[in-house]
Amino acid sequence: MDTMSTATACDLWFQAEVGRLSTTDERTAAEFSRRQEELEDILLARAKEEGRAVNELGPAPEWGEEPKGRQPRIIIIGAGVGGLAMGAKLREAGYSDFVIIEKSTDLGGTWHHNNYPGVACDVASYFYSFSFFKNPAWSQMFAPGKEIKQYLSDVADHYDLRRNIRFGTAVDRCLYKDGRWHVETQTGEVIEGDFLVPATGFLHIPKLPDIPGLDSFEHDKFHSSRIPEGYDFSGKRVGVIGNGSSSVQIVSSVVEKAAHVTVFQRTAQWIFPAPNDYYSEKRRRMLEYYPELMQRLFDFFMDMYNTGFGNGAVGDKESQRRFAEACEANLATISDPELRTKLTPDYPVMCKRLIFSHSYYTALQKPNCTLEVEQIDRIEAQGVRLTDGRLVELDVLVLATGFDTHAYCRKLDIQVANGPLLVDAWQEGARSFESIGLAGFPNLLFVGGPYSTVGNLSTMTCAELQVNYIIRLLNEMKQRGATTIMPKQDEQDRFVEEMEAAVVNTVWVTGCRSWYLDERGRIDIWTKSPEAFMERMTSGPDLNKYELIA
Ligand code: NAP
Repeated sequence: MDTMSTATACDLWFQAEVGRLSTTDERTAAEFSRRQEELEDILLARAKEEGRAVNELGPAPEWGEEPKGRQPRIIIIGAGVGGLAMGAKLREAGYSDFVIIEKSTDLGGTWHHNNYPGVACDVASYFYSFSFFKNPAWSQMFAPGKEIKQYLSDVADHYDLRRNIRFGTAVDRCLYKDGRWHVETQTGEVIEGDFLVPATGFLHIPKLPDIPGLDSFEHDKFHSSRIPEGYDFSGKRVGVIGNGSSSVQIVSSVVEKAAHVTVFQRTAQWIFPAPNDYYSEKRRRMLEYYPELMQRLFDFFMDMYNTGFGNGAVGDKESQRRFAEACEANLATISDPELRTKLTPDYPVMCKRLIFSHSYYTALQKPNCTLEVEQIDRIEAQGVRLTDGRLVELDVLVLATGFDTHAYCRKLDIQVANGPLLVDAWQEGARSFESIGLAGFPNLLFVGGPYSTVGNLSTMTCAELQVNYIIRLLNEMKQRGATTIMPKQDEQDRFVEEMEAAVVNTVWVTGCRSWYLDERGRIDIWTKSPEAFMERMTSGPDLNKYELIA
């Protein structure tokens, strides 16, 4: 076996990976894993013989040549996934005059704030990374939050971004006047720049439930994204309101330690069974030597998420059928018919953002866990009062009630002097042109704004695609000697119409409430296929659709 070529060994390892992930038979999966381990031994020995470098990324890249003439000054807001992608790509393209303003004390955005027990990403880790900074070291199929934060920290170090980040700086107002953006911080300092890039994300403003008496609870109470790191749930009676992705991860983890966990469910959710395999140290070491295998893993998972999943959400019936079958089979594993009924949704699979978990149903069937479907009447000093009069006494209450996903960067108070305010432009709902610009707002470029969320596609990929579009836009402006740009209103209107026309094909409007819909029932995420988003981002920008001012 060890006489085979390195390329063949890589090929066989990859085939075994695909086989392992495609089978539902445990023995076949174990056989694939065993073959992979043998091949890893061979590939590790070969790497030594061939003198392969461990870290193919090597030292920080040579920065691109600085664009000729005056450099535009770029102000990025947020040092999460979007802001860091923007910084890395600006650095690579030779734009050195940029600042990333971050209100927190550290980078990572969502992955800095969410420290709840069990926090992890439900996008496969090999795909939940930037294509320009792949990570062979992920410890699991779905990486824990801490590892993702470490990954983002490594990106920042590799691209030497920390020197551009202003931590602990909250923005109060962004005003465009006299041809420049003036960003006023909460301390009154004004930072000036040519371009403003809000990269504030959409899963960062906690949404608290409007349940009467919320403030009267006398014990610990946290929104899911604000549970202090290391908070001890041991021996406590824990109540969790909500049953979305955050709740499912919290409940699955906390049930091991808590005296009792009560999940307050308003609407049942579909759960896709997704085992969270651990990756061996040997596999990780092997992948460090073989970037070609990392690339194949990245492409494989991207294809799986795009065609297998993303297309289902926007209308592909075959994909919907496969996901529905898997979720129904998962639900059928619940042995108690009464519990199964409580957990059965009355809307199609993927209507709400699909939850991936291999442990939630197990957690709910433990003796120290109760799924409460009686609705909440109010919160009291000692617990949650239900509409049938019962009081569920609690020591700690977790509000896993989601985020204000349609706020985007409204809080930055963005406005053009003697011109529009962003909150007014978005009065009828958040919008943008091709997820990047906004008519009426010169040199405002979003990363992670309206129409940038693409079903279950990796946020890292979405951000990277947008950032590459923006860099091309900046380069092209430079070539044309233009300093100011904004989308033409009619082009934006056409784009928004295109997005709204495609909504009808999506599963998101098939009769459920979800964070995809705003309070008017309007959808402002990308409504076409993931491939269509990629195509739009990689073929753009078409500067004919923008107004350019030299
Ligand atoms: P979410 O999906 O918006 O879920 C919020 C939950 O709170 C829902 O079950 C909702 O019930 C319930 N709720 C809201 N207001 C309520 C009220 N007044 N009374 C009772 N129940 C109420 O929020 P999330 O779980 O934080 O997840 C948000 C998104 O963050 C995810 O979809 C995902 O994109 C991301 N996320 C990802 C991961 C991951 O990668 N694994 C982990 C966490 C979060 P209804 O269904 O009845 O509205």
